[in-house]
Amino acid sequence: MVDPDIGELLDDGLVLWFPGPHSATGEDVAELHVHGSRAVLAAIMQVLRRLGLRLAEPGEFTRRAFQNGKLDLLQAEAIADLAAAETEAQRRQALRQLDGELGGLYRGWSNRLTRILAHLEAAIDFPEEDLPPEIEERIVNETETLAAKIERHLADGHRGERLRDGIMVAIVGPPNVGKSSLLNRIARREAAITSPVAGTTRDIVEVAIDLQGYPVILADTAGLRESDDLVEQEGLRRARRRAEEAEIRLFVFDACNPAEVRGAAVWPGPDTILVANKIDLIRSPKTAEPRGCKNVMPGLDPGIHEAESGTARLALSVDGRDEPGHDESVVPPKALAASALTGEGVDALLSALGARVAENYRIEAPVLTRARHRQALEEAAASLQRSLGAPLPELRAEDLRLALRSLGRITGTVDVEDLLDVIFRDFCIGK
Ligand code: GDP
Repeated sequence: MVDPDIGELLDDGLVLWFPGPHSATGEDVAELHVHGSRAVLAAIMQVLRRLGLRLAEPGEFTRRAFQNGKLDLLQAEAIADLAAAETEAQRRQALRQLDGELGGLYRGWSNRLTRILAHLEAAIDFPEEDLPPEIEERIVNETETLAAKIERHLADGHRGERLRDGIMVAIVGPPNVGKSSLLNRIARREAAITSPVAGTTRDIVEVAIDLQGYPVILADTAGLRESDDLVEQEGLRRARRRAEEAEIRLFVFDACNPAEVRGAAVWPGPDTILVANKIDLIRSPKTAEPRGCKNVMPGLDPGIHEAESGTARLALSVDGRDEPGHDESVVPPKALAASALTGEGVDALLSALGARVAENYRIEAPVLTRARHRQALEEAAASLQRSLGAPLPELRAEDLRLALRSLGRITGTVDVEDLLDVIFRDFCIGK
């Protein structure tokens, strides 16, 4: 590479030429592969500027690719997600979207809707007052089918969005059972992304971890107990809310005080994992004695604990065994035995949590990944429903057109200009 004005050698490098329209952006693109030192870059940049070139703005390459029809808006967003992906699951999700899977689904729906609308418009032009019944029936059926498909797609438990933003796991349980210690232990072990998450409140500490490829936000909450103290009550309220909002809960209790496990009964189901902490107090008779760990859970005695490699069936039911009307057929849940102090059982706990997350996130069908998509789809579904209830064919057609517009906004075929700045603002330079 030489300075075109004075012929001076700038660097020895590689120039790749991608003629449009077959390049990534659709325009002519030249790539200079140079030795990346500051002096080489400065010299080359100076010459390029003299030739009238400038640095690209954040996301400008993707934006041009979109504007030249190389990508739809969903694929452009997927590039941003791919560049920001921190875990395997996020990378895979972004790649599926980049592959055009989601765009294909929505375009398919747009095409169906266009066909329904065409039928309706043709029928409106009929000379008679009413629509022919067979056309009427077909339009209604197809609109209902499409609305149902969109509604099913929306009822995905926000999985795609959560995979982008992080899956919420709350550590809950009574005070002093070792919740904070467990969080610290896990954070140290899974140090991959460990960082305090923005928005952390005074009483909820959050740590982002990479759990077997899934982005998990682990939150430690205030101990659950009755309290007269106003500040503590507020902490408790937040802890409960976080536990409600979390997708999975680790309910921690003291292995020496198994009755505490009853507190978990408010969150039944497989998304609450029971953790009997401080198992070290049970395993070592020397420490157990002075600590007064007498109420050892039958299932957690050292022998069984070893035999079942960290898992023991809870002898004590969390579902109100002692209460009248209790159904004896309910199988008592399993608790995982762990020690935040020694680290024992923590790997088993992480595998159980990872397995639960993987189970919840085994994504086969394409899922929407942003609130923007959700909003547009909700609008589309609402317009379709309105169309079904509209009294006049003209009003029905208008609602179908609105639904079509909402779908088009997702892939970027309508109302694009308003969206572009918002979407490309989050890009990094060079993408
Ligand atoms: P939290 O209130 O539930 O968050 O409990 P902390 O993490 O603050 O722990 C309460 C107390 O229990 C502290 O003194 C910890 O050192 C102790 N502790 C926590 N985990 C264990 C454990 O696994 N074994 C033992 N022996 N002590 C523990």
